[in-house]
Amino acid sequence: APQTQPVVVIDAHDLPYLNRKLPIKKRVADLLSRMTVSEKVGQMTQAERNALRSRSDIASYALGSLLSGGGSVPTPNTPAAWAAMIDTFQRNAQATRLQIPLIYGVDAVHGHNNVIGATILPHNIAIGATRDPDLARRTGEVTATEVRATGIPWDFAPCVCVVRDDRWGRAYEGYGEDPALVRSMATVITGLQGKADGSQLARINRVLATAKHFVGDGGTTYGSSTTGSYKIDQGVTQVTRQQLETIHLAPFQTAVDLGIGTVMPSYSSMSIDGAAPVKMHGDGELINGVLKQRMGFGGFVISDWQAIDQLPGDYASDIRTSINAGLDMIMVPTNYQGFAQGLTEEIGAGRIPMTRIDDAVRRILTEKFKLGLFEHPYADTANAASIGSTAHRAVGREAAAKSQVLLKNDGNLLPLASTAKVYVAGSNANDLGNQMGGWSVSWQGGSGATTTGTTIFDGIKQVVPDATLSADASAPLEGHDVGVVVVGERPYAEGIGDVGNGHDLLLSDADKAAVDKVCGAMKCVVLIVSGRPQVIADQLGKINALVASWLPGTEGAGVADVLFGKVPFSGRLPVSWPRSEEQQPLNVGDASYDPQYPFGWGLTTQAAARAALSEARARLLRQHDPYAVAAGVAAGVALRVRDWSGPQATIALAAAAQSAKFLERTKVDSFAEDDAVVGVARWMAQNHVGQNLNEPTSKLISDADHALLSGQLTTAITKLTAATH
Ligand code: BGC
Repeated sequence: APQTQPVVVIDAHDLPYLNRKLPIKKRVADLLSRMTVSEKVGQMTQAERNALRSRSDIASYALGSLLSGGGSVPTPNTPAAWAAMIDTFQRNAQATRLQIPLIYGVDAVHGHNNVIGATILPHNIAIGATRDPDLARRTGEVTATEVRATGIPWDFAPCVCVVRDDRWGRAYEGYGEDPALVRSMATVITGLQGKADGSQLARINRVLATAKHFVGDGGTTYGSSTTGSYKIDQGVTQVTRQQLETIHLAPFQTAVDLGIGTVMPSYSSMSIDGAAPVKMHGDGELINGVLKQRMGFGGFVISDWQAIDQLPGDYASDIRTSINAGLDMIMVPTNYQGFAQGLTEEIGAGRIPMTRIDDAVRRILTEKFKLGLFEHPYADTANAASIGSTAHRAVGREAAAKSQVLLKNDGNLLPLASTAKVYVAGSNANDLGNQMGGWSVSWQGGSGATTTGTTIFDGIKQVVPDATLSADASAPLEGHDVGVVVVGERPYAEGIGDVGNGHDLLLSDADKAAVDKVCGAMKCVVLIVSGRPQVIADQLGKINALVASWLPGTEGAGVADVLFGKVPFSGRLPVSWPRSEEQQPLNVGDASYDPQYPFGWGLTTQAAARAALSEARARLLRQHDPYAVAAGVAAGVALRVRDWSGPQATIALAAAAQSAKFLERTKVDSFAEDDAVVGVARWMAQNHVGQNLNEPTSKLISDADHALLSGQLTTAITKLTAATH
């Protein structure tokens, strides 16, 4: 129940928990020992800032946290207004007996995406296409710096979901379909939080991150099943124990290893080996058992938005089940009074042990101390000028360029000459909102110039000032050398996605008409701006060059950089590109796996490949680390096998990473190049190529494997050459 008596602020300055010289553990223990049950309940409560009946409720309920849900923005929506708003809330928290600071959270899932003028980065699926862990880390740094500069210490990102069905409306929030790829991109956590021990969290360029949604959100069953009708978002993930471990749990282990501060459970339920589905928000085996105990997660678990309400039973039971399952803080987010009362009653009745409450509060306070909030509760806006700065936009532009996946390039149409007479068309060519996708200024995102940035058309105009644009291709076509048709999805967040286009993976009729018209009249490049693959099989024959552009964010100029060859194409598919919608969910590994373009596909130029090879060789010479050796060798194999093209390069680099791990495990620190070739090729044979390819190819690969085992290197290379043709 709320405290009605006036709040007495004590002078707490001599107390151990306010002594910054003491270790955090001691400070937490001291503070915890002073807290009443209602103060503990308050720490476990997160309300939405719009739901506050009055700001004084922050003190009355001793609230531990507030959030802005998607699009819950101050007026005006400026960095300064955000900082002022959060400081006002914090002042209310500082007027409580123990002066425990609030922790404010937002969804900054691709840059500080709620704020007008901020750098909005490409969505995660695009970052997955870059295959560049260092770039992923830098996107985390850009985001953290801009978020913290508005007084916000906590970001509900990244989604480390493994996307197994493109029909999921959150596919773009994930880094791809392959757990190894998702794990490699978890470097974003380091960018957000700094060192794994949390020692850099108090810095003004770091925020606490959230790995979400635990677990299996990317593997939810679509449509109906024999036991009921399943939704793709907030539905049931049906997996074997092995799939759960190797596909969906694996990235969370990486997140824990990188020191992730918070984890958010999924709205979905989990059914393992055919057992009855259990809602993740009540799944003690997975949250307490696997996440906290087995994986060693030491941060706190924050529920998803009103998600405990979906548990079976009345509200008291929802509270009891979720907290006993290991949730530490509940995103209520509106009925904080009812929640506080319910939680207090459950504790009073002994249905939630005090040890569990203390554990939850200890976890929350520990992160608050690490963030330095007790010393600096208010916004430090020293980095305010970084918001939407040239330097940050340069990272966005680089990410946009590196994420472009060249799917097809007949007659080497790309890169285009800057002297070309370019006809630009399509619904996504000149629309900033569309190229940012969901979670951009508003929750669902929206079309149009909702913030500042360059559209793809703006980027093209910077190179070819007289390029013309006709979204519906109605302007005269003659007099042009090449058409650039930019089609795809409208923005959406959560659910099934793309409401405008009928939430499927098909292009709209208007987009198809624009492609038909332009590609019927001249050589054409088609760019697909979307959060997931779009079925293009029927148009493909007319298209000379095809690019998966994903959702590049505010820096459309990055797309123009690769179109005109300023930056070579290097992106690789983070998900398989289906021929038809029927090829969902992902069936990689099945004999019938036959996508339009396989996972890892992406054409590139010889120059880029040779640069990668010489870089790897240089690394190899500089430092005898196994990764460098394996990468160098793998790049060499790829070049030897087939003069380098996208999929082979991807396979080789993935193989290199795997061999590096293998070598680390076996502690081999010096070996001959041929040995490494054997290691790489064996891994290719066993784990990667064989899964994605048809039977004759798999046979060639396994022949190559046998040849390698018996030391017949030349035979092996011949077989690999045939296999990868
Ligand atoms: C989403 C979460 C998000 C939360 C807070 C929910 O609807 O599922 O990913 O963090 O809202 O905005």
